[in-house]
Amino acid sequence: MFDYSAPENLLQDRTIVITGAGDGIGRAAAKACAARGATVVLLGRTLEKLEKVYDEIEAAGHPQPAIVPMNLESAGEHDYQELAAKLEQEFGKIDGLLHNASLLGLRTPVESYDPVVWNQVMQVNVTAAFLLTQALLPLLAQSEDASIIFTSSGVGRKGRAFWGAYSVSKFATEGLSQILADELENTTNIRVNCINPGATRTQMRANAYPAEDPNSNPAPDEIMPVYLYLLGPDSREVNGQSLDAQ
Ligand code: NDP
Repeated sequence: MFDYSAPENLLQDRTIVITGAGDGIGRAAAKACAARGATVVLLGRTLEKLEKVYDEIEAAGHPQPAIVPMNLESAGEHDYQELAAKLEQEFGKIDGLLHNASLLGLRTPVESYDPVVWNQVMQVNVTAAFLLTQALLPLLAQSEDASIIFTSSGVGRKGRAFWGAYSVSKFATEGLSQILADELENTTNIRVNCINPGATRTQMRANAYPAEDPNSNPAPDEIMPVYLYLLGPDSREVNGQSLDAQ
């Protein structure tokens, strides 16, 4: 596991946007950030799941979160601009942006991969992250110390049979992260990095590996150290990296 121990007040006075915050790793990240003092903006497509996370954070006495119901598959440029305007009004700046939401798509040979699903996966995993980043960059630039995190995967570094659009989308994610990191280096206070969570006990993992014993993998809350490290001030000099959570 990534070796980092986050102080309790690590993310105090920071506002952090997390996509796919209603389940799995995103849910754990939202709760971990709130527990370190951050105001978290919970973005996802299933309102009930987001409300549950909201309630859990509130019940724990952490800073009151915000909820943004948004389907990254159908959202357009205008929706992202509208979101940016709302966040600017409410918070004035954004200190962290965690691109976590993803679709697994199909596990099938390229030869027979359904083009409709291909486009859905690319839209959610790559294009939505591009559009959201573009819309929020002005707000991230208002922060003294902002961090953007993209979520990669082992198959985003080395292609593997039957992983189709998901694998391609994760290579693209690594690319987008590197390009942005290079563009923003030395010109802003925004750093950009990737995290590869590694095998983690979530619904997506269960869908990808139905025969596996889920308990053989760590729970999402166990892989949080690297997320907290990259979102807090201790990683200030880290830019353009792709780190492993485990
Ligand atoms: P889950 O499927 O458990 O959670 C994904 C989250 O993304 C869900 O909350 C889901 O919403 C949300 N989401 C999916 N599609 C959309 C959409 N169109 N609009 C808005 N939100 C959406 O996945 P994990 O927690 O396992 O994965 C999190 C990240 O980690 C992903 O980027 C994944 O690729 C990556 N990863 C995971 C690994 C693992 O072993 N778990 C390994 C390597 C990488 P809803 O709850 O409504 O479905």
